[in-house]
Amino acid sequence: MTKIALLGATGSIGRQALEIVEAHPELELVAAASGSQSIDGLAPLTQVGGDLTELLERAQPDVVLNAVVGFAGLPATLWALEHGTTLALANKESLVAAGALALDAQERGGGLLLPVDSEHSAAFQCLEGRTSDQVDTLVLTGSGGPFRGRTRDDLEDVTPDEALAHPTWNMGPKITVDSATLANKGLELIEAHFLFGLPYERIEVVLQPTSIVHALIRFRDGASLAHLGYPDMRVPISFALAYPERSATPVPPLDFAQGLVLEFEPPDLDTFPLLALARRAGEQGGTYPCAFNAANEVAVAAFLAGRLPFLGIAATVEEALSEVDGASARDLGDLVEADAGARRLAEKGLSVA
Ligand code: NAD
Ligand code: MG
Repeated sequence: MTKIALLGATGSIGRQALEIVEAHPELELVAAASGSQSIDGLAPLTQVGGDLTELLERAQPDVVLNAVVGFAGLPATLWALEHGTTLALANKESLVAAGALALDAQERGGGLLLPVDSEHSAAFQCLEGRTSDQVDTLVLTGSGGPFRGRTRDDLEDVTPDEALAHPTWNMGPKITVDSATLANKGLELIEAHFLFGLPYERIEVVLQPTSIVHALIRFRDGASLAHLGYPDMRVPISFALAYPERSATPVPPLDFAQGLVLEFEPPDLDTFPLLALARRAGEQGGTYPCAFNAANEVAVAAFLAGRLPFLGIAATVEEALSEVDGASARDLGDLVEADAGARRLAEKGLSVA
């Protein structure tokens, strides 16, 4: 039996994870948490909001599936890594914000870090049994979101409802807006840097509008391996929970009978500046990625609340990043401070705008 703690149980990833756990008698849900919705009876131990590490201490799970959205997922990520408990990580924001601290905690804990983000799960699978010196480049694919092909002028008046209409994935609101701005690919770029130990210049982002190719590794001998499948998060969730086995899911294998066209195109960095801003924050290092994430969370919430136009999201993040000091964090306390500081700057930008 594998004892699972599911954090973010009421969300998009959380609900799909429950489906996987229910289908597998060898997976036992011992604890579940949500941010605000009641989850009484879902698991022997449940918690709504608060410090999720208290729940993890009581539950002592074998696997923590962290599907909380945003920086709020950070203490649980660090707890799992520090304790050597397998971490199935959907909450990319925590790895982006904590970066080096998270890897230090993993080194001390000695546990597994299994990405649930589809691109990273795909890259992890292409890389299994390989070392980073055999890799030429990692290619992260993205659909381009609902606004692919638009110009900045086209994007001036787009509404939250339009941003939430994702062409290929059905996800929670925050990541769906991040997909529309390409901030999500930016967070994923930083996530990939920490997960796979590759410098930023060896991680490329390419759009593949139907989301069939999830990632690609170019090896130094000229060979490339790609991971293909229908866009369905139950596949990477199942991969992480069954690892190193592979268990059946309801997702059908690829069908070529209808023909399958795979087109790739470069992202438009001028129209969607958050991808380039994330790359720069990643390269600057220190707490720049933490600040990028914090300012983006504030700006996305403001956009969803109708307080900020779509193009204001990138402007808010850029402005906040230009004012932070980006000094490295020594501990969780430093990170919480860097996060709060960037949030304050972003909020200040909103009230001026
Ligand atoms: P969601 O908004 O649907 O769900 C978020 C969950 O987190 C909810 O259960 C909510 O109650 C919980 N939560 C929020 N704040 C909390 C707090 N302070 N304490 C405890 N729980 C809290 O989001 P989602 O789309 O499921 O995404 C979850 C994470 O997975 C995000 O980091 C996202 O980037 C990542 N991810 C999601 C997808 C997807 O397909 N949805 C794909 C890749 C990665
Ligand atoms: Mg992804």
